[in-house]
Amino acid sequence: MADVHIIGGGLAGSEAAWQLAEAGVQVRLSEMRGVESTPAHHTDSLAELVCSNSFRSDDADNNAVGLLHAEMRALGSLIMREGDRHKVPAGSALAVDRDGFSAGVTEALTAHPNVTIVRERVDSLPEDGATIVATGPLTAASLAASIGATTGLDSLAFFDAIAPIVHRDSIDMDVAWFQSRWDKGDGHDYINCPLEKDQYLAFVAGLLDGEKTEFREWETNTPYFEGCMPIEVMASRGVETLRHGPMKPFGLRNPRTGKGAYAVVQLRQDNALGTLWNIVGFQTKLKHAEQVRLFRTIPGLEGAEFARLGGLHRNTFIRSPELLDAQLRLKARPHIRFAGQITGCEGYVESAAVGLLAGRFAAAELMGSELAPPPPTTALGALLSHITGGAEADSYQPMNVNFGLFPPLDGKAKKAERKLALTGRARQSLSEWLAAQDIPAPQASESQAIAAA
Ligand SMILES: Cc1cc2nc3c(=O)[nH]c(=O)nc-3n(C[C@H](O)[C@H](O)[C@H](O)COP(=O)(O)OP(=O)(O)OC[C@H]3O[C@@H](n4cnc5c(N)ncnc54)[C@H](O)[C@@H]3O)c2cc1C
Repeated sequence: MADVHIIGGGLAGSEAAWQLAEAGVQVRLSEMRGVESTPAHHTDSLAELVCSNSFRSDDADNNAVGLLHAEMRALGSLIMREGDRHKVPAGSALAVDRDGFSAGVTEALTAHPNVTIVRERVDSLPEDGATIVATGPLTAASLAASIGATTGLDSLAFFDAIAPIVHRDSIDMDVAWFQSRWDKGDGHDYINCPLEKDQYLAFVAGLLDGEKTEFREWETNTPYFEGCMPIEVMASRGVETLRHGPMKPFGLRNPRTGKGAYAVVQLRQDNALGTLWNIVGFQTKLKHAEQVRLFRTIPGLEGAEFARLGGLHRNTFIRSPELLDAQLRLKARPHIRFAGQITGCEGYVESAAVGLLAGRFAAAELMGSELAPPPPTTALGALLSHITGGAEADSYQPMNVNFGLFPPLDGKAKKAERKLALTGRARQSLSEWLAAQDIPAPQASESQAIAAA
């Protein structure tokens, strides 16, 4: 008999299961893939990455998500450990081999003596027993209905989109070149495809004219999430928008001409072998045949073979600021916690971070104590505060972790020093919180050692 039932084996559910299991708690992890899939997943592996393979910036001094990486590593995160183990080159970002990463998470949980993985779809919220719901943006409709009935509220919804992936050997490297923007990282982590002005204008026109996938009835009137907006929607905002977004040419120089291009399409390595590359920021709802035709007009991609084409899906999340307490418990039924993107955080790392907190909160409660929420001056605390109380419930929207969620600094700091001051304060706060909660201070864990290597 499990002590905690986790529903959903994605980024959040897997991390929550690991945290509980490592604390000595017996976990039942119910994952429906294996019986039934979602519109975006392709495998049965736990913690599958459905779109980009990037965990975004790994810079803990100047970037809020990089700071979140560091805090999760300090708390023994499985997602970060496997992310570090399966890292692929991506400049200052942490990008991973998606198959190796998910296989690593699946193996670790399968091998853990305190975890039982059950392939089943759960259709209603359990009446009793400690539960963590981590079913993500594509929660099965039956369970979503049960959540709606229990909370008395309709779920909110918006769209996320998938970018296409190209086989590396189909890219014409006599036209494209390796370089990271401003030569960051190893200086050559991205493949760049240059466009002249007339090619760019024709491409933008093609995006606007191209035939799009029709929305299904249940998807209409759903707004886009700004961070994952389809490229054709960006293009519709003005002819220059893409040149200042995913097609920006700045910080890149074509080694053949010695000059910059008018616009640049970038591809980022998608697997450890380096055989698959995704087109950065090119999530789209163009029809598949239209995508193939249009993307092959990009210089260097004339012969591109696509491992996966772009797509678009709906997301669901609850009004957490109204429904959840500071321990991620459903106020109306406190034996149930929510974790991951369904709480209204956004992104792989944030979802795993909320799973980590839900797992730790549940473990402490089972042991008869209470874990104080991390202070809002930390990245974990800032994210948690946004979800459980920092936002107006009526206008609540999914959010990536960012410095705007942190309490302002005391006194004035110059812009250039502000981020360093915020991350320095966060490190101090985390150390104090860990000490007060009797959690061992951050040590050079295996994943930190991998990250540092
Ligand atoms: C199309 C799309 C593209 C995205 N692109 C990105 C991106 O590029 N970068 C990024 O950072 N984030 C992206 N996201 C957001 C991303 O999904 C989340 O950040 C992350 O996967 C959420 O983690 P999670 O654990 O909350 O949910 P998930 O990882 O989706 O895990 C939820 C799990 O619950 C299972 N499940 C659902 N219902 C049930 C049920 N009733 N019973 C049992 N199991 C169930 C699902 O099969 C799934 O495995 C994207 C989301 C979508 C939908």
